[in-house]
Amino acid sequence: MISIRRVIIIGATGSIGRQAIDVVARHPDRFSVVGLSAHSDEDGLVAASCHFPGAALCLSSRSPRSGAIAFSGIGGLSALVRDTDADIVLNAASGAAGLSVSFDALSSGKDLALANKETVVMAGRLAFAAARRASRLILPVDSEHSAIFNMIERFGRETVRGVVITASGGAFRDEPLESLPGKKPTDALAHPTWSMGAKITVDSATMANKGLEVIEAARLFGLTGAEIDVVLHPESRVHSFIRARDGSLYAQMSRPDMRLPILNALAWPESVDESVADMDPCDVPLRFSRPDPERYPLLRTAYDALASGEGSTDAYNAANEVAVAAFMDGAIRFTDIARVVSRTLERAYPPTLEGLEAVLAVDADARRVARSIVKEIS
Ligand code: NAD
Ligand code: MG
Repeated sequence: MISIRRVIIIGATGSIGRQAIDVVARHPDRFSVVGLSAHSDEDGLVAASCHFPGAALCLSSRSPRSGAIAFSGIGGLSALVRDTDADIVLNAASGAAGLSVSFDALSSGKDLALANKETVVMAGRLAFAAARRASRLILPVDSEHSAIFNMIERFGRETVRGVVITASGGAFRDEPLESLPGKKPTDALAHPTWSMGAKITVDSATMANKGLEVIEAARLFGLTGAEIDVVLHPESRVHSFIRARDGSLYAQMSRPDMRLPILNALAWPESVDESVADMDPCDVPLRFSRPDPERYPLLRTAYDALASGEGSTDAYNAANEVAVAAFMDGAIRFTDIARVVSRTLERAYPPTLEGLEAVLAVDADARRVARSIVKEIS
């Protein structure tokens, strides 16, 4: 007899949040939604909640108009996560704002299904310490890390020599290099294989997303930079490989559909019958190649940040958030995103961050530096 798992979805109006609602709705015998949050889209939040009567609702950016929304503001978000009786929190908030959600979930005794990769990039070691203290799990939702997690759990960590993370290459993979400085935000938002939120779609085009994922993999699975390889794979069918001690590569494959990793995280360690991402191995030929460092300088910068330590990886995320926002506002060019991040990282940051205050201090510091660089070049 399998009990129904009670789920809180943070970021319910976003790309991952909406797909998570679909996953839960497809498996009412497995999951029920007991809490939902959105940042500013009040109508979207109320619409999402109509499938789940009785779920606690939170609008995290301001006071709501609707009487159906009991929680609001940052304090309300924390209270929703901490005080609602639930088994697991899906953190699908975008950006550094998701950090506190992760710690609230773990410290109030809930498992954490983690789409918000920023939590692991900014404070992975601290998040695992919090999970250990609460005897709770962190289950990756990012498709590459979900693939690696599932393979490592099945094969055993001791059999794994390294991982190979796949990357689609984003919107400008096949564009002439000289055209990149002139690319507009609308161009960067046209992703070839995945349909995602705006920030992560721009990060796919620069490969900052893959940089964040290299750091995420290092922290989630205890790997060094040298043990993590990145390959271009335009079809997004292989979500990642593990390399076994004997040199064999094992892959996890499906059609690109985030509902599969969301389902796997929410259901872990059980497996659930599902077919949304079923793949016909004959449908497309699969290609793999090395990413061009000139096209994707932010990938190298991520490896350098990883080698420098926790302060630098925290700063990488912060500087990139500032740079992407400036690009979206039209203040800097597409190719300036990488310049802003690498110049921000020329500073020295502490190699270890002992506590969330230290994490937030480096985050604030790096944002200040990045903003001043944006001002200088815009
Ligand atoms: P999105 O922009 O589509 O949605 C973000 C959600 O977070 C919205 O519901 C929004 O209301 C909420 N939100 C925004 N700012 C917030 C704040 N300050 N506090 C609380 N909530 C806030 O983003 P997305 O594409 O769904 O991505 C969400 C997270 O999942 C990101 O960390 C992203 O890197 C990660 N992720 C996304 C995908 C994908 O396919 N979209 C894949 C892997 C990982
Ligand atoms: Mg990913």
